[in-house]
Amino acid sequence: MTISDTILTDRTVALRQDFPILQRMLPNGRPLIYLDNAATSQKPQSVLDAMDDYYRRYNANVHRGVHTLSEEATAAFEAARTKVAKFVNAPSARQIVFTRGATESINLVAHTWGRANLGPGDEVLITEMEHHANIVPWQILQAQLGFTLRYVPITDHGTLDLRTLPDLLTPRTRLFSFVHASNVVGTVNPVQELVAAARAVGAAVLIDGAQSAPHMPVDVQALDADFFVFSSHKMCGPTGIGVLYGKRELLEAMPPFMGGGDMIREVTMTGSKWNTVPYKFEAGTPSIAEAIGLGAAVDYLQQVGMAWIQAHERAITQYAYTRMAEVEGLHILGPAPDARGGLVAFTLEGVHPHDLSAILDRSGVAVRAGHHCAQPLHDRLGIHASARASFYLYNTLEEVDVLVQALHKAQEIFTL
Ligand code: PMP
Repeated sequence: MTISDTILTDRTVALRQDFPILQRMLPNGRPLIYLDNAATSQKPQSVLDAMDDYYRRYNANVHRGVHTLSEEATAAFEAARTKVAKFVNAPSARQIVFTRGATESINLVAHTWGRANLGPGDEVLITEMEHHANIVPWQILQAQLGFTLRYVPITDHGTLDLRTLPDLLTPRTRLFSFVHASNVVGTVNPVQELVAAARAVGAAVLIDGAQSAPHMPVDVQALDADFFVFSSHKMCGPTGIGVLYGKRELLEAMPPFMGGGDMIREVTMTGSKWNTVPYKFEAGTPSIAEAIGLGAAVDYLQQVGMAWIQAHERAITQYAYTRMAEVEGLHILGPAPDARGGLVAFTLEGVHPHDLSAILDRSGVAVRAGHHCAQPLHDRLGIHASARASFYLYNTLEEVDVLVQALHKAQEIFTL
């Protein structure tokens, strides 16, 4: 361990105190080693407190009431929107639409922008490393609108094969929608290059930031994304809330997604007029406590520092990559540590990932096993499933050591 590793670990030990769940013991008497952060992250006390405080002290519906509680709830809800806008450097809080998560954000764009802009002869370009959330909405829409869905292939190292871009991005491409950081191979894609290539043919750009926004500084203006989506629950916030950032002129031109209360300016028996953005896209009572919890999560992450979180995960991932590669029969999916985010997906020869996950669980280690909602990617890599260890600000090098020991043990058990 180097001195900088020690410093990273010491800060992490202090940060761990902020997460009540990390203090618990599992039924088998082992401490929890939570390495399933790409699926969902744990929540610090400040997030739990913010949501609890809302329900205990000022629970009321937002935007509609002219009483104290409703005004307090509305102020906290809108303050959360402003925090999120600053977190990703959006020019205005009006460009932050609250959704249920990254999945709903992509569906929103597909069913509003997509329906208004796509038809026969048009093309939508995605990639072979997408999560199902950025594949299936386009497939559903394709069946209805008749456009063509194309995929940027990946190399055997799990990076995008950029040599194919000139053929795939053409004046027919209306949208290039791609993942910022892969939830399986871990690859952090060269966004600037991809956006520039899309711009050159006049295509709009959607970036799936579900695995980037929680782990690195994100500046939507610098990325020049038309749309950028992410989920609260992967960044220390609650489930049930996510974000769609969009360029203002695009959001304003888009028809609404769902109809109902709050998204209208005026309703008559014969028709309705829409509210301004972002409210046009937020029909019905929103997830109020969850938005407030997300605001608290943003405060927490900013106080820790996104650059620190990124550096910490790099150190852990580098260490995990090196130590895991020592396990006989273990194959790591995706590129070298310097081209990836904070996760390592892998297979172990002769052991099904589900069995492996069950064995690791006996040592208190929580990893994910399966296709991680990226079946086309697994098909491309010629495997059905993989196991995945994914890290966050509270993970330590010692936890990686326990993972590696348990992997050695699993390898021995299955090759006896
Ligand atoms: N995209 C990526 C890359 C993801 O990892 C995930 C979550 N696994 C999603 C989209 C969907 O996020 P959610 O389930 O929170 O809507």
